[in-house]
Amino acid sequence: MHRLVFRLPEMDEQPAPIVIVVLGPPGAGKGTQSSLLANFLQVPHISIGSLLRSHARDESEVGVRLRGMMALGNLVPDTLVLDVLATRISEPDCARGLILDGFPRTLGQAELLERGLLKSPFYADNPSHSLVALHLRVQKSTIVGRLSGRLICSRCNATYHLETQPPRVSGECDFDGSALTIREDDRKATVLKRLHIYEQETAPILSHYAEKASLLEVDGEQPKENIAQEIVMAIQSMLRISIAGAKNVQSTLEDNL
Ligand code: AMP
Repeated sequence: MHRLVFRLPEMDEQPAPIVIVVLGPPGAGKGTQSSLLANFLQVPHISIGSLLRSHARDESEVGVRLRGMMALGNLVPDTLVLDVLATRISEPDCARGLILDGFPRTLGQAELLERGLLKSPFYADNPSHSLVALHLRVQKSTIVGRLSGRLICSRCNATYHLETQPPRVSGECDFDGSALTIREDDRKATVLKRLHIYEQETAPILSHYAEKASLLEVDGEQPKENIAQEIVMAIQSMLRISIAGAKNVQSTLEDNL
């Protein structure tokens, strides 16, 4: 695998961190695109769902409560989400920016993000950070198809699809050989409920970001390579940054997908 060539040279001189929030319904490809973008920008990909799922494996009282809420497709209370997120974004690798996948999910969370980014030492005192909201637009019929065949690695959270992206060995993760599982909340009834919650709670955030002119709309139905290319180019022009080798997005993706 090639070393990624994307860098933000300006970030070395300019301390203002870049925050990219990735929005879209369940199954829109937020995880895949966030992780590609994290590689291009060399900032961490923070998936709130993955952080919560790892806490939900604990046998503690909180773990058991989390498992119950997540299996039903419900949103987890803000206090728990903020606790987990604040701890993670205080780690040194977040100093220059981050990709937030799955946060904010409500208008209240969006406002919290703007009021000092959860008191992280890197952001609370730096109101000048650039925030871009990225919306992956996908139709409902596509979502149900994508989620009904989705498999996830129990250790590293890599995702697969039974038909469109099967693992090399059935039931085993290509990266670490761990068992692949079906997420409890990917069952059809729960997916429909998560979609309903998305439309009620999360979709209103889109107009919030559109008003601030920081919303990037992308057609999430395209092949993932094309989506990634569109995102990298648009972010480059929105933030007026240069990403070394951005014109070679396609070939770099082919080496890394
Ligand atoms: P995801 O992996 O992003 O699909 O998230 C899986 C589950 O984690 C969601 O269905 C919620 O139960 C919970 N979750 C993730 N992000 C949030 C959030 N920002 N606020 C509340 N609950 C969340």
